[in-house]
Amino acid sequence: MRATLSEPLEHPAKAVRCTACQHYCTIREGQSGVCGVRLNKQGELHLLVYGKASAVNIDPIEKKPLFHFLPGSKIFSIGTVGCNFSCSFCQNWDLSQAAKEVKLRMLRGRQEQREGEHDSRASKQEHPTTSIRDMAAEIGKFGIELAPQRIVELCLEQHIPSIAYTYNEPAIFAEYAHDTAKLAKQHGIRNVFVSNGYESHELLDHIGPYLDAMNIDLKGSDQFYQQLCHARQAPVLKTIHDAHARGIWIEVTTLVIPGKNTGDLAAIARHIASVSRDIPWHVTAFRPDYKLLDAPATTQEELLDAYATGKRAGLRFVYVGNIIDTKHSSTLCPACAKMLVERAGHAVKVTDGQDSTLLRKGVCSCGEKIPGVWQ
Ligand code: SF4
Repeated sequence: MRATLSEPLEHPAKAVRCTACQHYCTIREGQSGVCGVRLNKQGELHLLVYGKASAVNIDPIEKKPLFHFLPGSKIFSIGTVGCNFSCSFCQNWDLSQAAKEVKLRMLRGRQEQREGEHDSRASKQEHPTTSIRDMAAEIGKFGIELAPQRIVELCLEQHIPSIAYTYNEPAIFAEYAHDTAKLAKQHGIRNVFVSNGYESHELLDHIGPYLDAMNIDLKGSDQFYQQLCHARQAPVLKTIHDAHARGIWIEVTTLVIPGKNTGDLAAIARHIASVSRDIPWHVTAFRPDYKLLDAPATTQEELLDAYATGKRAGLRFVYVGNIIDTKHSSTLCPACAKMLVERAGHAVKVTDGQDSTLLRKGVCSCGEKIPGVWQ
């Protein structure tokens, strides 16, 4: 499938620039970008995972996590393979890093082939074509065929009110997400990105009109991003600001990794509060995974410290996650402290009665407006 979020470059010949995320990769013919799923075939960028869902589930919306968006509802969740980050602590690394593994294998194979050849001219001309075909075929093996039309049909059949583009970074499968989201919107189904926040402004322009909510990770300081994710912090801050300014409902998540980003939490909370004190902040517990096996799991005490940090920064809604703690994961009215949504794990109860003013009007019974999308 041709990737529309791209533009041709004059040099080198047949190179393109991908405009889906803030890496803005320059991609030569026969090569793919950092994410491994956007491939330049003869001067045109192609999305190798269009219509190929590698993870499909119907999840509680609280699992995204989104706490101020249709509480207690189900969300149809899809993801592909590939990612534009390489986080050493990734909890979905089997999906996110799969395309890079294929790419590395292909590059190693190409290198070995080159080293073994002496008659260069004819054989070198064959390499790009062979590699492109092999790589497209390899990446295409991941996942099941799931067209945008079918995703929307499934939601309608099962009365599921929203779709999450999640598990891996949705910016890299932008065109697949866009076509699904546009169709979903026509049928009254909401769309949610669960994202690392590296969307380009071109992508936000393209898909923004169909996006209702985003949960964006804000992982740590710029140094943290460089050392553990091979990315930078500034583009993420920009996306949080820009998406919020576009009227997309935003919640932010920080995985609290002891000794790695605990010193960054106050600055993270202050940044969120500078965009809006109404943005919910989820501080979630880390468990050793993938390549980051030497950092300890987050304790409840460390999570509660993070919670207190968010409150001190002026955030009105801070939630702990990946542990069961009803007190610090429920929604209370910031004005009168009435319990509005009680959460125990993924069990959710809207507690302001059957005739809920929260669900009907987005307000507490005391009249305080509770920010979010409630119906
Ligand atoms: S989505 Fe991002 S990482 Fe992937 S090719 Fe485009 S600019 Fe590069």
